[in-house]
Amino acid sequence: MGIIATMTIAPAPLIELARRFALGTVDAIVNFKRWTEKLLLPHEGRVKPEGAIAQAALCARFPRYLQGGPGHVRCGRGWYPLVWDLCTAVEAMEHLGMPKVGYVQAEQRLGGLFLKVDSPSLLVREVAREVEHKAAATCEECGAPGSLRLGHGFAKTLCPAHAKVRKRVRHPRMCLAASQPAPKLLFLDAEFTDLDYPQLISIALVAESGETFYAELADGWSPQGCSDFVAETVLPQLTGGDFMQERLYAERRLAGWLADFCCPVRVVSDAPRYDWVLLKDLLGNSKPVNLLHEPLPLFSESFPELVPLLQEAKAGAFRDLTRHHALNDAVALREAWEVMRINVHPAILDQYLRHS
Ligand SMILES: [Zn+2]
Repeated sequence: MGIIATMTIAPAPLIELARRFALGTVDAIVNFKRWTEKLLLPHEGRVKPEGAIAQAALCARFPRYLQGGPGHVRCGRGWYPLVWDLCTAVEAMEHLGMPKVGYVQAEQRLGGLFLKVDSPSLLVREVAREVEHKAAATCEECGAPGSLRLGHGFAKTLCPAHAKVRKRVRHPRMCLAASQPAPKLLFLDAEFTDLDYPQLISIALVAESGETFYAELADGWSPQGCSDFVAETVLPQLTGGDFMQERLYAERRLAGWLADFCCPVRVVSDAPRYDWVLLKDLLGNSKPVNLLHEPLPLFSESFPELVPLLQEAKAGAFRDLTRHHALNDAVALREAWEVMRINVHPAILDQYLRHS
């Protein structure tokens, strides 16, 4: 990316420029170090091998970072050269008088490379982040160019050849062309009469940007049609007042609320088979064009490892809210998503949005 492009895109162009410059300097230092090692110490196992690297060779070359203590390498061999590069950079920076690094951890999680470098230096952490981004485009098995592949119960960055080996259950579906902005997420929850014959009682949507919609329906359901659970848990919590609206009025209000975003919007639900179906049913023919046809399931079957994190985050949100009020439940979904957004590698989150 050129300097001009950087300055127009980056929110803090000078910081980004400084970061690029610093990373470029690190690259130059590493290249110089490589060159001197090749020249002066060609037979001592210090020079990065061409092609495949054995884990033993990697750990033996950087024992202080990778062996003993908390340092370790837990990823496929395709990423060993990247770990080697990171350790070389860290070592070079130490030689130049930067703070000593305690350990380096390299782990594959959810298809991405997570690097933890025990260092107070911001620059060291930036270098690690760059390497993580490189790994997101590198086959974890062989080091060839690759991309994140998802199947039932796995996420892995692989080249086309290694991806063929993995049987893919679901095919990624692009919902939007790459040039279009990512749709805004709206977290949905609905309360309804009963699982066998669900009739909508109340519905809430909370946008990732904070806007909320909430309505309780005055018609289309009856207390007699409610299950015991709903009668005991949901009905007493209804807010009433102005929120209690004729179905037709709620339909128009909801359609208007969705259309007002003036950008593509996508619903996130932890129970799409009920909540999403009831939302579509309420909208009927008033479905605005900016509403995406498919909801995003909060608990994606492509990312089973994320389910405990999401469940814990959602449970945490209920410390201050009572469950089974549609608005509270939608707020909790949004908070769970927020926890995931903070904790999950951006590259993985991007894949979650694309392929779920
Ligand atoms: Zn490969």
